Amino acid sequence: MSEVTITLPDGSSRSVPAGTTVADLATSISPGLAKAALAGKVDNRLVDLSYPLNADASVQIITSKNATDALPLYRHSTAHLLAAAVTNMFPGVQCGIGPPTDEGFFYDFVVPRPFVPEDLEAIEQRMREMADQDLIFERQMWDRDEAKRFFGARGEPLKVQLIDEKTEGQTHVSCYTIKDKETFVDFCVGPHVPSTGKLKAFKLLSTSNAYWKGDARNQPMQRVYGTAFLSEKELQDHLRRLEEAKKRDHRKIGRDQRLFMFHGWAPGATFWLPKGTVLYNTLANYMRSVILPAGYEEVKAPIVFNKGLWETSGHWDHYRQNMFLVESADGEQMGLKAMNCPGHMLIFGSEVRSYKDLPIRYHEQTPLHRNEASGVLSGLTRVRQFSQDDGHCFVMESQIGSEVELALRLVQRVYSDFGMKPELKLSTRPAEYLGTIEQWNHAESELKKALDAVGEPYTINEGDGAFYGPKIDFDVTDAIGRKWQCATIQLDYQIPERFDLKYIGADNAEHRPVVIHRAIFGSFERFIALLIEHFAGAWPLWLAPVQAVVMPISDRHRDYAAGVRDRLAAAGLRVELDDRQEKIGYKIREAQLQKIPYMLVTGDREAAEGAVSVRSRSAGDMGSRALDAFISDALEEIRRKDQSGPAPVAEQKPA
Ligand SMILES: [Zn+2]
Ligand SMILES: [Zn+2]
Repeated sequence: MSEVTITLPDGSSRSVPAGTTVADLATSISPGLAKAALAGKVDNRLVDLSYPLNADASVQIITSKNATDALPLYRHSTAHLLAAAVTNMFPGVQCGIGPPTDEGFFYDFVVPRPFVPEDLEAIEQRMREMADQDLIFERQMWDRDEAKRFFGARGEPLKVQLIDEKTEGQTHVSCYTIKDKETFVDFCVGPHVPSTGKLKAFKLLSTSNAYWKGDARNQPMQRVYGTAFLSEKELQDHLRRLEEAKKRDHRKIGRDQRLFMFHGWAPGATFWLPKGTVLYNTLANYMRSVILPAGYEEVKAPIVFNKGLWETSGHWDHYRQNMFLVESADGEQMGLKAMNCPGHMLIFGSEVRSYKDLPIRYHEQTPLHRNEASGVLSGLTRVRQFSQDDGHCFVMESQIGSEVELALRLVQRVYSDFGMKPELKLSTRPAEYLGTIEQWNHAESELKKALDAVGEPYTINEGDGAFYGPKIDFDVTDAIGRKWQCATIQLDYQIPERFDLKYIGADNAEHRPVVIHRAIFGSFERFIALLIEHFAGAWPLWLAPVQAVVMPISDRHRDYAAGVRDRLAAAGLRVELDDRQEKIGYKIREAQLQKIPYMLVTGDREAAEGAVSVRSRSAGDMGSRALDAFISDALEEIRRKDQSGPAPVAEQKPA
């Protein structure tokens, strides 16, 4: 019998008889490894443990320690287990596809009626029974025509369609059974874990409506979502995070705190309610307070432009389907702006510019519109109308480094004011790019120098830059570990060409400026969603739409309480008076639910002493304070932009 040479990850090699399976190889290395093995990686390709080694190869045995490979394999195998349970419980069901996702897996089915929550419990129970039986995942190569006949006869035309599309020209197709083809069989290239007994840490989560291939014109289906992890602990951690995320969902908190609403007659466009508008304006003014002193000038360009502008910018050819198009009274084709850059190019180009004027920095917060399909809209994170804190800096080549450094320092400053630490990614020259290689090398080295100068660690995404220039992106991780992409700094050599922008250099000749697009929040809508979920609606004092509520104990304290409210308002604090005829405990509970930072109770003693009895959302009862002292402390807390308010008061020890 012929031998093949297998090279292992540690560099050692061994000879085994040709046809030895990956599982046999694992056994020959150690019984422990054989037990832990989930799959193999042969010449960098993931395969089943039953894969026969017929040629020399490098082989790695994949266990739960190799999460990058093992996790998708594990999740995809669990999706098959789900499909097996469903087909056994619901005769006549049709299976679609069941891929792994970043967070778990799903499987789509055609079923006579939508699944209900009790179905999910029963399906998960059946999955556990099938896992306990440790049924074998077996790969079988079926004759292609026979496979099509088999699935056709079983009433699974979708599988027949998949085989037609995915295996054209093949004589045989790969199918997997669980136990046997009566129990479950699916057309799939694999690989999978060797048997269902490996699948333990999984959970079904929800169902939703879906369509075959995600297209609403196709067959309606029911999608079952689940998640799976390589250990029970990771699964439980994930489920806890999901619970926490549900509580923090910005759509829910936005409703509870009456910040914003949506209406079916303006899909994806936010109605900012009074409290949400306070929040929005607080952020808008904060952003102005940061960037205007840094040399930016605020502008307001039009919202509707003639299509000529979009042709010049290139959006007409590449982006038109994402724009709202309208017609003017004169029959001119117009488009609502989806980004601010072209407008700013026109402003720059409207005057003769000298090198002495540069850098020129424009900032704009007017609304943008993008024509997204209504099906993908969701809360504040996928919208049709939004505003960015959008800046464009016009610089000379020699100013790229210092300008990017300034932008980086602004991003640093802003995120530290929100108690967040972004992760930076530098994306470099892609395979297809515009401009010269010298320009790119210069720009990339300037970006690196700027990053080093501000002392931020960063990772490099090689080849991930835009075709018009390199960029730096910022990911923010929120309080429960989810990543959000927010700020961005992008160099652009292309747009100044398109708009034929120039400045007069020191040599009296015309030169092209470089444009830097940059946003710090990103979009206000998305950033507010992030803030709501990050703080779980418990706003730091400086952001809270209502900073304090004054509560008279009874009717006869109403006048004093109203006076307190007026004093706070005059000091610039956002304050409400709760003078309803309700018990004080009830008012406090309600304010606590609304997560109002300070509750100020006023009764006889407070009125007599010119004081307020202070209760803080975070620290509880803080006792009686002179009104002036409370006001100056609150103003100081706002000035410092404290994240969490006062620390909880230490337990008083009895004397
Ligand atoms: Zn599969
Ligand atoms: Zn731009």
